[in-house]
Amino acid sequence: MIEVEWQRMKAQELRALADRGAVVILPIASIEQHGPHLPTMTDTRLGHEIALRAARLAFAERPTVVTPVVWSGLSEHHMPFGGTLTISHATFRALVADLVACLVRQGFRDILISNSHGGNMIAMQQICDELAPTCGATLVGTTYVSEAGTDLSQHLQDQAGVMHACEAETSMMMVCEPGLVDTSDLAQIAQGMGAARFLAAGQASYRWRPFAAITGNGLAGNPARSTAEKGEAMLDAGARALAALITDPATWVAPDDLRGDGAGGVPFRRG
Ligand SMILES: [Zn+2]
Repeated sequence: MIEVEWQRMKAQELRALADRGAVVILPIASIEQHGPHLPTMTDTRLGHEIALRAARLAFAERPTVVTPVVWSGLSEHHMPFGGTLTISHATFRALVADLVACLVRQGFRDILISNSHGGNMIAMQQICDELAPTCGATLVGTTYVSEAGTDLSQHLQDQAGVMHACEAETSMMMVCEPGLVDTSDLAQIAQGMGAARFLAAGQASYRWRPFAAITGNGLAGNPARSTAEKGEAMLDAGARALAALITDPATWVAPDDLRGDGAGGVPFRRG
């Protein structure tokens, strides 16, 4: 199997990948409660698995390496249930910015921040907005659930999409960590099926709420019909979506510059 894990490689192998113009996947995730039946590592484990699979799929066309997962994410809304390790937005931003700077100093120029936790999505976009103009690399942010879309959700029977500790995440964890999934009571624990609007107010407004406002046991969705077969299909769909993103030249191409002579004075990032 092709080696794509940063921490398993030697420095000279990583220098060679930078010289070849490899893409770096920087996974970001969380350690947070995942209901009564899944371990707190769920988002970290799934994000890592999908990133590794994507890198192996993409490698022949575009060499790709995966850093260790930034497990420390934004999970304040899960704190009421315990088991959750959350950090502040400022710390999260600083951590990701430092790691991106580190990659750029080593010669990597195409960086995919690959997120596997809903609570990180807005911050990820803000970080890309802030860093991209000056960081010296092309930054792309993605969340595998969104990138894979219906390719992933078509495998679900009881939910329209991926929720939390749900049919989808439970199925995928049955593949990745079968010994850590408690299947003894899956038929009884469905909760929070209306979770999609739990951060909404009015017609189109946002209101922060803790996750305990929609679920009594920390999960949202229905894990009752989770199976390893579904999980494998969803992991594959997530990985294929990321691999397609990585190998599409349009993902990384420099932006058009339509300014005419004398129309501007600040160069685009890529020089
Ligand atoms: Zn999760």
